[in-house]
Amino acid sequence: MHFKDLGLDNRLLKNLSHYDFRKATEIQQKAIPVAIAGKDLLASSKTGSGKTLAFVLPMLHKSLKSKAFSARDPRGVILAPTRELAKQVYGELKTMLGGLSYEATLILGGENFNDQVNALRRYPRFIVATPGRLADHLEHRSLILDGLDTLVLDEADRMLDLGFAPELRKIHNAAKHRKRQTLMFSATLEHTDVNEIAAEMLDMPKRISVGSSNQEHKDITQKFYLCDHLDHKEAILERVLEEAKYRQVIIFTATRVDTERLTEKLNEQKLKAVALSGSLTQPQRNTIMSQFERAVFKILVTTDVASRGLDIANVTHVINFDMPKHTEEYVHRVGRTGRAGSKGDAISLVGPKDWDSFKRVETYLQQDLTFSVLEGLKGKFKGLRPPKKDYRGGKKDVKKGRPQAKKTPKKPVKRDKSFHNNVAVGDTVFIPKKKVAPKVDDE
Ligand code: ADP
Ligand code: MG
Repeated sequence: MHFKDLGLDNRLLKNLSHYDFRKATEIQQKAIPVAIAGKDLLASSKTGSGKTLAFVLPMLHKSLKSKAFSARDPRGVILAPTRELAKQVYGELKTMLGGLSYEATLILGGENFNDQVNALRRYPRFIVATPGRLADHLEHRSLILDGLDTLVLDEADRMLDLGFAPELRKIHNAAKHRKRQTLMFSATLEHTDVNEIAAEMLDMPKRISVGSSNQEHKDITQKFYLCDHLDHKEAILERVLEEAKYRQVIIFTATRVDTERLTEKLNEQKLKAVALSGSLTQPQRNTIMSQFERAVFKILVTTDVASRGLDIANVTHVINFDMPKHTEEYVHRVGRTGRAGSKGDAISLVGPKDWDSFKRVETYLQQDLTFSVLEGLKGKFKGLRPPKKDYRGGKKDVKKGRPQAKKTPKKPVKRDKSFHNNVAVGDTVFIPKKKVAPKVDDE
């Protein structure tokens, strides 16, 4: 099915012809007609399957075909969890706005607030934003959303993970009128929090899922290596990078500090690597992303700040130097490759501290994941046994007065000491748990 069969305005079809797309993807075929019909939508499909156009096109179509509720307020707002993703979506929106007389603006955290106030005074018709900063503009009354037609939440589940539920509610309440349409998209929407916020923000939504989030991504080849400790991980990484015929690589680590340390290591090996993390200033982040997109650097070392949405054509390999803290992030991280039908490789290094995350990923994917071995780099670590559960005994039974099971002395757990002598990798234990929702736009 081609885009012209989806009932889209001719001006949009003309702009679409800039791309060389032969046909609409499945999610586009399914979501666009429903969105054009005015229904709220909870839509999911695998990474790299064209979800951006599946919400940008109906949003613009609606603006072209119907009268605005207000002469000044924006008609469409698209929210994304990270600044980099918001920028990318904005780029796609601008392409689709070519030749149309609509203004659009990008409102991101970390950028000058007053410049944004000035941009909002020009009454842009469309806004792409990170939720924290957009909520700040509502607070500041530099933005009114009474006339909003369409609210899009891209990667909705990630915005909730980052603690943006209050900001999403605030934006929702600022544009709460009968005719507003809300579209939620992600590759992973099974989060219970998503259902909760969807129940509040969406009006009898239609659910569209193309495949399930744990379905094997046929274009991505996954490989897993067992690692004893940090040095072992680095040796495996070095070999993988030597042997892989990569064009560009994204390497994910557990923490910001790890991104810096690993990047230095790679640079010492004369590999062109650069680190991106949420601790950098926005101009630094912009420069790094633009250099990586232009392949000035072949390797980007990052955290989950780059796990969502980013569409960089030359990324042939994704490497999980550490396994992700949130299980769904595995799907998103590996989905930075194998986009729009191209092939990609995903390699994960699994040390003792990654083991629990690895097992959760395995359960989530419902696949029996096997380990590969590199010649001369076979380690000792074989995985950890699940903790033994003794269902007899315990507090409940004491209360109920049942006889307690006889306590058997615990066997000492065998641990690989060498791992503990090294810098901690793949673990979240050193990251202080956020008690309050963070008020930043991303990690
Ligand atoms: P998702 O949000 O599902 O991860 P994106 O919207 O980022 O995916 O799109 C992934 C890539 O696919 C982009 O490079 C985009 O230009 C391309 N794309 C979008 N629609 C089509 C299509 N109909 N045919 C081929 N490629 C497409
Ligand atoms: Mg996307």
